[in-house]
Amino acid sequence: MEMMTISSRDGMLEEREAIPEDGVDTPCLYPEAQKEPARRPHQFDESKKVVIFTARVHPGETPGSHVLNGALDLITDLKSEQGRLLRKHYVFKIIPTLNPDGVARGYYRLDSLGQNLNRFYNDPDRRDQPTIWAAKRAVAQYATQYKNLEAYIDFHAHASKKGVFMFGNALPDNDRQADNITFAKLVAMNCLNFDMNECNFSEKIMSIKDKNGMSRDGSSRVALQKATGLTYCYTLECNYHNGKRINTLAPKLMKAQGHIEEDTAVTDPNSKIYANTNSPPFTQEIFEDVGNAVAIAFLDHIGVNPVSRIPLSCYRTVENVRDDIMNNLAKYSAGQVNVCGVNHFSSSNTKVSKNYQKAEAPFLKKEARGKHSHSGSKDP
Ligand SMILES: [Zn+2]
Repeated sequence: MEMMTISSRDGMLEEREAIPEDGVDTPCLYPEAQKEPARRPHQFDESKKVVIFTARVHPGETPGSHVLNGALDLITDLKSEQGRLLRKHYVFKIIPTLNPDGVARGYYRLDSLGQNLNRFYNDPDRRDQPTIWAAKRAVAQYATQYKNLEAYIDFHAHASKKGVFMFGNALPDNDRQADNITFAKLVAMNCLNFDMNECNFSEKIMSIKDKNGMSRDGSSRVALQKATGLTYCYTLECNYHNGKRINTLAPKLMKAQGHIEEDTAVTDPNSKIYANTNSPPFTQEIFEDVGNAVAIAFLDHIGVNPVSRIPLSCYRTVENVRDDIMNNLAKYSAGQVNVCGVNHFSSSNTKVSKNYQKAEAPFLKKEARGKHSHSGSKDP
C-alpha cells in the first residue's frame, strides 16, 4: 500500500517525518521507510494543515478512484491559482488503494481473507488487517504527534442509495457539528451533482449494523474520528449510476478582477449533460468534478478561494452558510435540508437570501461579463 504526499515548499521544515510507531521489529510494515529514512516526507510548520484522502477499501468501488483523481487533478495543477493555493495551505496525504489485494483479484467489497476492511478501524490487527493498521497509525501520527490533521475523507461508491453524498459523524458539540456540516455544504455549493439532502450526520448512522452484524462504528469515518477527535471526518459516496436531483450553483466570482468565470459543461445545468433529466447518468467526468469540488471546498473552507461561488450565492459568506446550518442543526444532521428549497444556492433563492443577501453584495465590474453574469449584483 502506498501513501503519497503532495504539497508546496511553503512552510517546509528540514526534518523528515518519523516512521510511525510499529511496536514490532519484524516484519516491518514500512519497508521503504526503514530502508531509506532520508526519503521520508518532510515535516511542515504550523502554517500548513494535513488533509488525508483514502480510497478503495472496498476494492470494487471504482467511482471513488475517479473522485480522487478529480481532486488530484486540481491539487497537482501547476497552471491553476487554485491548485497553487491548495498546495500552499495544505499537505495532502493520499492513500489511493487501501485494499490492493482485493483490487488485484477483482473483488467487490472484501479482501483476500474475506474481510470487509472498513469494519476493523477500531482495533485493526497488524497481521490480519495490515493496511488498516498502518493507515490508522499514519492518521494518528498527524493528529497526535504533529497535531496538524485538518480533515480525512474516505472515497466510496454506493450500489443502492442514489446520488453523491457524504456520511459524517454526529459531534456532541453544536459548534463543531455546525463546522462539520458546513464543509459538506461547501462541497455541495461547488458541485451540481453533490446532494446535501442525501447526506447524513446523525448518531444513528454511526452504529448501524450490516447484514453480517458488523457495525459501522468500525468504519474509518467513525473510528478515526473517535481516535483523533477530528471535526472534518467523512465517507464520500457516489451512486454507481445516478442521483435524484442536481443543485443550483451560484456563478464563480473571480474576486480580484470582479468578473464571472464561465462554467464548463459539467458545472452548467443548461448544458446538454443535464438536458431532460433530474440527474444524468454519472460519467468519469462527473465523478472527477465531484473530486474537483472537494478540493475547491478546502479553499472556501479557509477563505482563500480566488474564484469562489460563495460570494454570489444566497449566503454571500461561509460564515452565513454556517449560521444557516447552526439555525437548522437538527434538520441538517438528519439530512433534511429542504429548509432552503432543494439545495438552491443561487442568489435568486429569496427564501434564504432575505436573511443574508443584503449584508454583503460583492463588487462586480460592469464590463467583460460572461454569459452567467449576475445582473442583480452591484457595487456595495
Ligand atoms: Zn464502500
